[in-house]
Amino acid sequence: MGYWYMKWVIIFSGLFFVLTACEQEPEQEQQAENDEETEIQGEFNDEMEQLADHPKIQEAFQLIEDREDQTIEDLITITEIPAPPFMEDERAEAYKEMITEAGIDDIYRDEEGNVIGIREGTVGDKLLVLSAHLDTVFPEDVDVTVEARGDTLFAPGIGDDSRGLVVVLEVLRAMNEVDIQTEADLWIVGTVGEEGLGDLRGVKHLFREGGPDIDYFITVDGGGETGIANKALGSHRYRVEFSGPGGHSWGAFGTVNPAHALSRAIHYFDESAADYVAEGPRTSYNIGRIGGGTSINSIPYDNWFEVDMRSIDQDRLNGIDDILQESIQKALEEENQRSDDELDVDIDMVGDRPSGEIPASNPLVQRSMAAIEYVGFEPNLQRSSTDANVPISMDIPAVRIGRGGVGGGAHSTDEWWKNVDQHLSIQRTLMITLAQAGLAE
Ligand SMILES: [Zn+2]
Repeated sequence: MGYWYMKWVIIFSGLFFVLTACEQEPEQEQQAENDEETEIQGEFNDEMEQLADHPKIQEAFQLIEDREDQTIEDLITITEIPAPPFMEDERAEAYKEMITEAGIDDIYRDEEGNVIGIREGTVGDKLLVLSAHLDTVFPEDVDVTVEARGDTLFAPGIGDDSRGLVVVLEVLRAMNEVDIQTEADLWIVGTVGEEGLGDLRGVKHLFREGGPDIDYFITVDGGGETGIANKALGSHRYRVEFSGPGGHSWGAFGTVNPAHALSRAIHYFDESAADYVAEGPRTSYNIGRIGGGTSINSIPYDNWFEVDMRSIDQDRLNGIDDILQESIQKALEEENQRSDDELDVDIDMVGDRPSGEIPASNPLVQRSMAAIEYVGFEPNLQRSSTDANVPISMDIPAVRIGRGGVGGGAHSTDEWWKNVDQHLSIQRTLMITLAQAGLAE
């Protein structure tokens, strides 16, 4: 009996682990919204056909196929240069060097650390940014050596987003080798700080007030061939810390208690937030971590919690944020009223990713769909949380497109990527770029 009981516990807990593991979503949460109208307007299919028929594009396509070995070599080189959050320098310098070698009119690193290569257009009245992100989620001590097992490459960050950087680089190389010019200016960009607490710092700097006038933005990030994110899932994240004088649980009883205030704050927040998210555009909230305190018989000096709130709608995101702020203030005041001492609260915003949506009818979205279809896949529109969030929230046409090949395990040390028709993703990225930036004759 005991044996069978244990056996079932093991089987069920194993099953539970598998289920929860599948539900874990990386930073680029993707959720296909299948009910959306994803029809491609015929003119954009025609545009792709015409582009692909152009002798220079044909030549570029061939070149992209022929360069496959070099592409894989570049992927390994980039992946093996560590790029932990806030420490992308070494990889950024190497990427800058690779772009320079491929050929670019001008290149520099901006104040935030982004690599910006400038390729001038023949007209230059518009500016298209083609980018991927330099940073990984992995801390310094993670081994990033690439290991080949059969035809699969294993290494942390090999897909996300080393492969994205390679796709961008290859598009530039193909354009240079075949001497393709665009009407719009084209910037080849490697951004810093896309992941986690990097909080999109690179792309936020790119789209800062008074910054460059960017008309269109493409980021190559996210797995596979078919996905196009034209919708941004916004999030606000805070670390909230209550602090006070602390003391002995018996001797100093009556002193303000940060743990009590924190509990009240979470209680008030959860009560109101649950009602708030019950209707309207999808919005979520989560207290992910709670900590602090000294011992069971000490009034704590400080206690903290971390909260993550998300919404597909910016107003709703701001709305649930207001509920959080009110709950914290209410809890603080109530706790302070019970004692002669005062608690402090420190509310630190550690994440701010804006929401938004570029309509499926927008030419950049249409071109992305048409190009993916042209190389043989069925495109699907998604919502994600990536560099594209920032321009999307500003109503600047922007998409996140996939890195191509087959991969998995993003954000884990078991990350892998496999070359399955890797040239297709480079070819279609070239097509989207040229269609949007205008092929100069
Ligand atoms: Zn990524």
